[in-house]
Amino acid sequence: MIDRSARYLLTRLFFLMMGLPVSQYRSEVEHLWRLKEDARLRVLDRLLAQNRPLNSSGEEVAGLDSLRSSPTLSKRQLQALTSKNQRKNEKVSFGRHTAGTTGDPAHVSLNRKELAQMLGVRDYCLRHYGLALGQREARLWGRAEAGFKSSIKNFLMNRRIFHPVGPQAENELVALSKWRPDYLYGYSSLLLEAAKILDRMDIQFEAPRCVICTAESILPTQKAFISKVFKAPVAEEYGSTEFDVIAFECVNGHRHLVNPWLIVEEDKENGVISDVSRMTQNLVRYEQGDYFTKLDSDCQNLGSTVYLEELHGRTIDLFFYINQEEKVHIISIARIFDCYFNDNDDIFSFQLEQNTYSVLEVNIDKEPAIGLDGLNVFIEMGVREITGASVTVRISIRKYREQPTKRNYFIQNMSLEK
Ligand SMILES: [Zn+2]
Repeated sequence: MIDRSARYLLTRLFFLMMGLPVSQYRSEVEHLWRLKEDARLRVLDRLLAQNRPLNSSGEEVAGLDSLRSSPTLSKRQLQALTSKNQRKNEKVSFGRHTAGTTGDPAHVSLNRKELAQMLGVRDYCLRHYGLALGQREARLWGRAEAGFKSSIKNFLMNRRIFHPVGPQAENELVALSKWRPDYLYGYSSLLLEAAKILDRMDIQFEAPRCVICTAESILPTQKAFISKVFKAPVAEEYGSTEFDVIAFECVNGHRHLVNPWLIVEEDKENGVISDVSRMTQNLVRYEQGDYFTKLDSDCQNLGSTVYLEELHGRTIDLFFYINQEEKVHIISIARIFDCYFNDNDDIFSFQLEQNTYSVLEVNIDKEPAIGLDGLNVFIEMGVREITGASVTVRISIRKYREQPTKRNYFIQNMSLEK
């Protein structure tokens, strides 16, 4: 058996052989975040003057001022721009695909430097929890990709995929525990699922350094449960295919901005992000398709002092409608579940759905501790407290969905205002 640290070094060596100097970029990330904010912005300003990416109207952006006055860039525009106007002298070495939540598939192309930079940011985030990129990663993902190519990739990355759903779930957790990963990484709903199964199993599980939740919303009580079962801190990561990691949670619970080359702006319905260093694609004021609020803190733990709060899919799809005039933000309904979990020492996954005014469909994956009727009353009362309106709640128990959807515990099926 090859020893743990030798295995880690092998993966780091593999990065170097691929032309991906991860440590070098991590140092650069550290350096940029050590700068005062105006000094970092001057660096970005100079980078823009060199790179001169195009904005969505096809104009050159030669500095932060012209970036700020640029129109936003939608996913669809990006794809059109990319095929028409792939930046010519840039050799593209890596491609990533995303199905996206909007249904528009996107293709992201990266050169070696860009990929190394992204991995450097990832490495930087992991260091905050005493970890490093290349250490043993258990990834809780949708169906494991089959095939020789992905098993080679996972081997080289020192990563194994586990799928804790279905009849094999307990076996998967036994295998996970035997493998003794340095950290866990995956969809929030799958980590929650794994934690629930592990909680009722009687096996020894060596605590990893950290559990990293990504791609889906998670409630504080659900996070606390995962942390208790795995005996490890839980960090939320916010990222996307286009930018990789954008924000990462520190030990104090802030999701700090961590990529120093990104300009992250808060917008009414859509977060807008620019990458000033990107050469292969023009990413100027790109509409992220998620909504977030930026807050400043005194916390110097990680990345920028600015962190993201209230992270959601697009706001337009995030309201539960009582009638044509009255609506309530779905987060207030999610908080009722948080109260329920707290009060009843219970935990499960849930998904909310609306098909008609004032009726809330709730899908959960197991019988609640206080029974279906009990939960029904609890939610109806909670909604009445918030809105003063009475709402019908319909709960059904459904098998866990196999393919997690990105960051959405709410599906709004009514076609409403624009
Ligand atoms: Zn912090």
